[in-house]
Amino acid sequence: MKNNIVDLQDKLQALLHAQRDNFIQGKVADYIPALASVQPDLAGICVATIDGKTVGAGDYQRPFSIQSISKVFGLVMAMNRVGDALWQRVKMEPSGQPFNSIIQLEWEKGIPRNPVINAGALLVSDVLTSHFSASKLAFLSFVRKLANNETIRVDKQVYLSELSHGNRNAALAYLMKSFGNIEAEIPAVLSHYFTQCAVAMSCQQLAQSLLFLAFKGVDPSSKSIICSPKDAHRVNAILSTSGMYDQSGEFAFSVGLPAKSGVGGGLIAIVPNYGVICTWSPPLNSFGNSVVGMNLVAGIAEELGLSIYH
Ligand code: GLN
Repeated sequence: MKNNIVDLQDKLQALLHAQRDNFIQGKVADYIPALASVQPDLAGICVATIDGKTVGAGDYQRPFSIQSISKVFGLVMAMNRVGDALWQRVKMEPSGQPFNSIIQLEWEKGIPRNPVINAGALLVSDVLTSHFSASKLAFLSFVRKLANNETIRVDKQVYLSELSHGNRNAALAYLMKSFGNIEAEIPAVLSHYFTQCAVAMSCQQLAQSLLFLAFKGVDPSSKSIICSPKDAHRVNAILSTSGMYDQSGEFAFSVGLPAKSGVGGGLIAIVPNYGVICTWSPPLNSFGNSVVGMNLVAGIAEELGLSIYH
C-alpha cells in the first residue's frame, strides 16, 4: 500500500480539504512578533519519496519560517563535526517539559535533556559557533545543498524580531554558560540560533532536504553521504521521543513516526525507507505543535500504513 502513490495527490488534497474547518483552531505563535502576522489559513502538505517522487497539495511551495525544524539540520552538522563528544554535553532523553522550559536545566546542572528542546539546540548552536569560522553561512550552505536550492534564505525580519524578544533563550544560554557548558560568547550563540530558526523554506524544500534521514544518511538523489547510518538512526530516535516536545508520547501513540515541529507551523515526519512528509499550517496548540499539521500527518500515515511500529 505504501508504495502505491498513483493516487497520493488526490489523498493529500482530500485530507487538506477535510481540515478546512480546523484552519482557525489553535493560535499562531505571537511571542515572536514577526510570526504573529502570518496568515493563519494558509496550509500545505508535501510527500517526497526516496525514489524521487514529490507530491503536494495546498500551499506546499510557499516558504515559511522553519523555526525549530532547523534543530534537525543543526544537530546533524554538530554530530558530523564533533562526533560522540556531543553526547557529553547534551542527553537524549525526553524532557517532559515545554520546549522553552528553564527549570530542568537548573536541576540538571546545565546539561540539556535533548538537542531538540531550546536548551539543547542552543548547546548545538554553541558547538557550531565554536567549530565553524562562519557558522551561519555554513548552516545555510548545508540546507541549500540538501534542498538543492540556492535561493533559500534567512528571513531578516523574523531574525530581528526574535533577537529583540529572545530573553528566555538568552536566559537558557547564560544558565548553561554558568555551568561551563557553553564555550562561545552568548550573543554569538544566540545570533546563530535565531538565524537558523529564521530560515524560510517550503514544505517541498523541507521534505526533499530531509530525505537522507529516511535513507540511512544518504541523499537519495545525489547519493552523497550526509551522515553515518548510525547518526541517521540516532536523529530519528530523538525525533521519535522528543521531536513533538511534551506531546511526543501522544504522537508516537497515535501516529508512530519520528517528527519535528516548529512554531512557524511546520511539521516534518520521517518515514524510514520511504520518504518524508512535511506539512504547514500556522495555528498551534498549547504544546507549540501545528493543529492541522498533526491531523494531516496522522491522516496520511493512517491511510498509507506508515507507522514505524507496525
Ligand atoms: N525560535 C523559537 C524559539 O526559540 C523556536 C521554537 C520552536 O519552534 N518550537 O523559541
